[in-house]
Amino acid sequence: MISCAEAVKELWEFLDQTLAPDDQAAVDEHLAFCRRCCGELQFARELRAFLATNASRELPSEVRGRLTQFIVDLDRNGRPS
Ligand SMILES: [Zn+2]
Repeated sequence: MISCAEAVKELWEFLDQTLAPDDQAAVDEHLAFCRRCCGELQFARELRAFLATNASRELPSEVRGRLTQFIVDLDRNGRPS
């Protein structure tokens, strides 16, 4: 099982489906696992930290938008409404 940090590093390639099938499956498996065990809160934290440290890098706005939406969805799913 890969860690949250590892999953985050591969997340946008995952979203773009440019990962090797094995890596794609590993991230997929992690997300399913994460949803069960920690409500994705740690994952969301890792993702925010990753975006913060990579903020100066050029990200296609489309990818950034997808990641931002992903975080919004995590927050929505992680909190009782
Ligand atoms: Zn995780």
